[in-house]
Amino acid sequence: MKLQTTCIICPRGCRLTVEDDLTVSGNSCPRGERYGRQEATDPRRSVSSTIRIDSTLVKMCPVHTSAPFPKAKIPALMEAIKPLSAKAPVHMGEAVCQNLLGTGIDLLISEDIER
Ligand code: SF4
Repeated sequence: MKLQTTCIICPRGCRLTVEDDLTVSGNSCPRGERYGRQEATDPRRSVSSTIRIDSTLVKMCPVHTSAPFPKAKIPALMEAIKPLSAKAPVHMGEAVCQNLLGTGIDLLISEDIER
């Protein structure tokens, strides 16, 4: 079935049409073609959230996925993140959880929190 979507790779926001044979039209650059094919076959999104942290400075710590995450699994990902917590100090890029839901994608700390 033909897919109509908006490219989110840059602010231009080209309207894309992806045919059943994965031919993409409406894109203004090759990145849009790649995005359209990915969106039609295996849509993914970068995910940012927060987890609790044992710290004297803050109660929550920002985290993000190490790579765009399969869109269909994002609700399960949010449930998996809920019980997670960390203890300061933590540093940007440290893995809180590896291989989330068997995807090979990790959950990483987004900010240094020293104490
Ligand atoms: S197709 Fe290219 S120019 Fe258009 S929104 Fe996507 S990245 Fe930007």
